[in-house]
Amino acid sequence: MNERRLGNLLFGREEIEERVEEVAKNISLEYENKRPVLVAILKGAVYFAVDLTRNLEIPFDLDFLALSGFKPGLLRVEIEKDTDIDLKEREVLIVEDIVDTGLTLNFLTRELEKRFPKGVKVCTFLNCPARRIVEVPVHYCCFEIPDVYVVGYGLDFQGDFRNLLEVYTLYDPSGRSTQILKQMGKGGKK
Ligand code: 5GP
Repeated sequence: MNERRLGNLLFGREEIEERVEEVAKNISLEYENKRPVLVAILKGAVYFAVDLTRNLEIPFDLDFLALSGFKPGLLRVEIEKDTDIDLKEREVLIVEDIVDTGLTLNFLTRELEKRFPKGVKVCTFLNCPARRIVEVPVHYCCFEIPDVYVVGYGLDFQGDFRNLLEVYTLYDPSGRSTQILKQMGKGGKK
């Protein structure tokens, strides 16, 4: 059986477009005259960051940061590519694809705070509170999702599915994802 098939459609193109536009409006309001530095986390957040920044109505700077994944047995990630912009005295907005366990963001916000920014806030495309291990603040979020593995709109599975314009669950042979989504009224739409 091919375990890499797509499961259920979770968010379609129009729904994503509308929500990203709304979130960008809120960010534009909060950061008017503040010229924030948006730090997009490679690679998953690139698609979201592009759409988000296209909808911003304020001046901003865009930068990128890449992290190593969690190594087995190590509750620690490392910065593999750092920002080019000096974040001192700047309003920083981290742009993430998904906040899941919160471990990545917990590490990252602490790291960025060491650089004396004026403030650090978080904007994520997806938020999955059900899988949280550490509490992290999420200031802007497009959608909350239940405990399912998702792909598309920048989110990949071993490099695949990243360029999909919609968000899908990954096929779950146990049927658990479909059950969860049905309970939310999202299941079976494909
Ligand atoms: P964390 O668990 O530290 O909050 O999330 C770390 C990273 O794991 C995310 O930035 C994302 O790249 C990846 N990740 C977490 N949950 C999912 C998911 O459901 N689907 C995909 N494709 N990646 C995920």
